[in-house]
Amino acid sequence: MGRRIVIIGAGAAGASAAARARRLDPEAEIVMFDKGPFISHAPCGIPYYVGGVVKEAADLAIYSPEEFARERRVDVRINAEVTEIDLRSRTVKVREGNTTNTYQWDKLIIATGAKPITLPVEGSDLKGILTLRLPHEAPVLRAEVERARVVAVVGGGYIGLEMAEALVNLGKKVILFEMMPHVLPTTFDEDMAKLVHDELAKHGVELHLNEKVVGFSGVNGEVRKVITEKGEYEVDKVVMGVGVRPDTDLAVKAGIKLGETRAIWVNEYMETSEPDVYAAGDVAETWNLITGKRMYIALAPPANKMGQVAGANAVKGRFLKFPGVIGTAITKVFDLYVARTGLTERQAREEGFKPVSATIRARTTAHYYPGGVQVSIKMVADEPSGRVLGVQIIGPDKIVAGYIDTAAALIGRGATIDDVFFADLSYSPPTAPVWHPIITAARVLSKGRF
Ligand code: FAD
Repeated sequence: MGRRIVIIGAGAAGASAAARARRLDPEAEIVMFDKGPFISHAPCGIPYYVGGVVKEAADLAIYSPEEFARERRVDVRINAEVTEIDLRSRTVKVREGNTTNTYQWDKLIIATGAKPITLPVEGSDLKGILTLRLPHEAPVLRAEVERARVVAVVGGGYIGLEMAEALVNLGKKVILFEMMPHVLPTTFDEDMAKLVHDELAKHGVELHLNEKVVGFSGVNGEVRKVITEKGEYEVDKVVMGVGVRPDTDLAVKAGIKLGETRAIWVNEYMETSEPDVYAAGDVAETWNLITGKRMYIALAPPANKMGQVAGANAVKGRFLKFPGVIGTAITKVFDLYVARTGLTERQAREEGFKPVSATIRARTTAHYYPGGVQVSIKMVADEPSGRVLGVQIIGPDKIVAGYIDTAAALIGRGATIDDVFFADLSYSPPTAPVWHPIITAARVLSKGRF
């Protein structure tokens, strides 16, 4: 038997770490604990399960524990909650059924994910105020909202918007509260977010912007009203979408250092402040490739990659580096695909750049070819250096995903406006106009250079 690698949490990061460690070290003993019944799961699918697009919550788990254990030769323990990490004795305490067992580790990977934030306001502990976290909890969430007529969604971020759509699909009246002047306030500029406002209105979502929720009131312990700075609203259920925070409780108790974002501090090898202890995924801090600053981002693609890096380094030493992120993300809001990468214009200004921006509307096919749609693209660059800092794209076609990924690949490599303009992108009448929309955005941004 080789060294023992213990992994806490079997979501995207934990399962990726286990798979990578096994691939690189056939001898290691790998034990992966999860306090829930699912492993290798996809919380991202919860809104689609609630809205009825995905039929079974179990479909949101990619592998069953048995399959994963067999195929990867990993000792998978479900319904096993790690309650303590002891750094001195190199052990973890695990609650399994009615007993608490102690396991030794040579290398430890913490992949406990993130928790939904709850508002510190009166009434926030009432029943019927619902949060989204893990797929196995989704059937309860769906049963709760199915019984409701009016549902409030608090928060206009990705999860709030995806839930608003799911609830409308279930025939509910939806009231969405966002305390900032526009939805997606931390990821989009206001001019682009307005397109999402129109889409929400088109589908009957009652949108309350600049309206902070200050409390909830209930009857017999069940929520009945949302109280904001501007009024009171009768509702049957409330879905919270005000963000997540890293689930660092175990790490904090063990004395593992947190970073400035309050996620676990890690270096590019996913090493924590403690020898032989790694952290990966939504529980760990990362850094922004554009600003060079530490940041916290809770998204599945970085979680998977950080897990791979942690798993590889747990068995091979300093074998792989995680380079950082630029914050690429996409969501669907009814008939619109809403995508972004890099910095918004506001963020660019706050970070000390001198941003210039161009916003264009472009067709997705040659003008004579049927079936094309119009997409809106905003590109932001730093005027003195010409470096492209960010792109936001919104349009009614999945092609938006391809555009944003193209932009992300370029921006992640430090591309300038010229680099983007001369990127050798593809063309055929059914798939793109001869001037690709991303290139057109760069051309407009170049202010006459091209
Ligand atoms: P998780 O997936 O949260 O896994 C952590 C695991 O640790 C859990 O299984 C948990 O049970 C376990 N655990 C925690 N504490 C313990 C303990 N003490 N003992 C044992 N086990 C423990 N990202 C995107 O990129 N795109 C999307 O569209 C998207 N949509 C989302 C929609 C929703 C509703 C939610 C909630 C998230 C969404 N995300 C999305 C974020 C994405 O799901 C996360 O970034 C990703 O799941 C992080 O993986 P992780 O392994 O770090 O954490």
